[in-house]
Amino acid sequence: MNNSLVDLKNLSPAELEQFLAGLGKERFRAGQLMRWIYLRGVSDFTAMTDLAKAFRAELEERAVVSTFSIEAEEISSDGTRKFLFRLADGQSVETVLIPMDEGRATLCVSTQVGCAMQCAFCLTGTFGLTRNLTAAEIVNQVCAVRTRFPVDNIVLMGMGEPLHNLDNVVRALEIFYSASGFDYSPRKVTLSTSGLVPEMLELGQRIRVNLAVSLNATTDAVRNELMPINRRYPLAELMRACREYPLLPRQRITFEYILIRGVNDSLEDAKRLVKLLHGVKCKVNLIPFNEHAGSAFRAPDGATIEAFQRHLLDRDIVAIRRASKGQDISAACGQLKGRLEELKLLT
Ligand code: SAH
Ligand code: SF4
Repeated sequence: MNNSLVDLKNLSPAELEQFLAGLGKERFRAGQLMRWIYLRGVSDFTAMTDLAKAFRAELEERAVVSTFSIEAEEISSDGTRKFLFRLADGQSVETVLIPMDEGRATLCVSTQVGCAMQCAFCLTGTFGLTRNLTAAEIVNQVCAVRTRFPVDNIVLMGMGEPLHNLDNVVRALEIFYSASGFDYSPRKVTLSTSGLVPEMLELGQRIRVNLAVSLNATTDAVRNELMPINRRYPLAELMRACREYPLLPRQRITFEYILIRGVNDSLEDAKRLVKLLHGVKCKVNLIPFNEHAGSAFRAPDGATIEAFQRHLLDRDIVAIRRASKGQDISAACGQLKGRLEELKLLT
């Protein structure tokens, strides 16, 4: 691919308008192009029949519309599907489609190849960061799946730390929300972060999105060990940022809490969690640690999980127990990419 060509999927709607203005075109052409690209899934300019021939030729000279093809697909016994996409530089990325209630489906999208955050429980984190995904590579995960399956919700919870790639993530969100793009309501899109405080606040200023925070501990001592980012942004700062995060009416922050046996699953932890969450409009997702070969951590037994959840519920905190779906195809939380790298190491 010629490097001087602009991939239009790397441009936010406003950037696309600017690009077209540079070619002397009217603003509304941006919407027209986006509808071809995102709503109709067309990447060949010559097929965009309501654009003047000369304009199409001009686009052909200066721009491309990249696409992903599905390189591999695995289906779990619970209906979860994992897709593998090959990137132009040979790297790969995984995207997971998770069936929800009432025939709905949530797409779990990656934002980086690997992750720099090194969380102790996460297989993705153990391999470090290879690179950020471009906006086009984030958006193309959705494009490729949507042509085959309806996607009701999008969660940025795959590989990577989305706030470590903020500009491209915001571009992708703008395309998801644009009426000429995918036209998702911000209520349908969730971004999960390990807690990069300045970027959380910047995100809140720049764009609307549901926020999920991977909390996973109730003391700095434990969180420092589980999530090294906590040494930079300790719990008090993180919780202050959560309190400041702008929410729509009826919107809440989701706190993800992986329960790890003997590490963060005690009743004392549950009590501290109640205190930490005081004054935050929130709900808690309790996720029993998803055991994998790369880790000595274990999930708590059912009674411990139950007691933890009960303590929160009794104090009027919405606490939902989440099972990791797609375990048999390594598509569950924290397993993305890890298994692939594991296989690479073995072969
Ligand atoms: N980097 C972001 C988003 C991707 S991680 C973040 O950390 O929030 C996706 C989710 O998987 C996070 O909530 C993380 O806590 C969870 N996760 C990682 N490893 C896991 C494991 N072994 N078991 C259960 N959940 C895990
Ligand atoms: Fe990165 Fe999230 Fe895994 Fe931590 S849990 S290493 S932030 S992907």
